Amino acid sequence: MEFLSQSANAFGCASGAWNIWSLSDGYVDLPAETLRYPNDKSDRQSSRREDLLVRLSVNCFLFDRSNQDCVLIDCGAGGSWDPSMGHLGKAMAEAGIDSSSVTVVALTHAHGDHINGLLMPDGQRAFKNLCKIVIGEDAVQEFLAEPKLAEFRSLLAPINGGDRLADHLLSVAIPGHAPGHMGYLLSTNEDDILFCGDLIHVPAAQFARPELTWAYDEDELLARTSRRELLQEAARARTGLAGAHLGRPGIGRIVEEGRGYAFVPAG
Ligand SMILES: [Zn+2]
Repeated sequence: MEFLSQSANAFGCASGAWNIWSLSDGYVDLPAETLRYPNDKSDRQSSRREDLLVRLSVNCFLFDRSNQDCVLIDCGAGGSWDPSMGHLGKAMAEAGIDSSSVTVVALTHAHGDHINGLLMPDGQRAFKNLCKIVIGEDAVQEFLAEPKLAEFRSLLAPINGGDRLADHLLSVAIPGHAPGHMGYLLSTNEDDILFCGDLIHVPAAQFARPELTWAYDEDELLARTSRRELLQEAARARTGLAGAHLGRPGIGRIVEEGRGYAFVPAG
């Protein structure tokens, strides 16, 4: 991955014929106790974790080659949540990306900070030429439980892990965090880059200690197993990782360090 440009909310890099953008929708502060230390009593007793907040980045990603084959991975929170989110449009403008060029959105799962940006905070459609929303089959029910998004029902294109979306793009099931939680593996000829959704929520802790779980995971133990397996494979195969909550820019590689890993951001 070769660095291209950076602004306050947009980071661009290139790999082979592809341009890849990390676009910030903003951030969300959540209780630090959501990060769980299951077998480590000392960590719990030594700090008043219930008083602490941990700040999670909310990143979306977009890739294309020669202005074709454009896919947007997740679309942020729109106006559905805290005003610290919903800034994807601003990030795209900084990157010089016209929102009308987005025709395909691929969702990693159906949580609010990943799907509600289909609508702008003023309720207008964010992507007027959108014609397909790729989503894990098991995430469809949760998506349709959001009444504001009912107008997108006919655009949903359900998939399962292992489905090939194009010669360069493969879906990868990452079970545990949410129903139908899906990664997308982009192969550029130079790099394999996995858009890994919510594999990790607190990069400062969970790369070094992948065993730490997140209370909002639907199945914390399954999510932990997915995280361990996927990080091990990404380190072995030198697969790039790009994630919503991996900080800024939230795209890079991992290396083994100690008993866990360290994340080396691109750029
Ligand atoms: Zn998330």
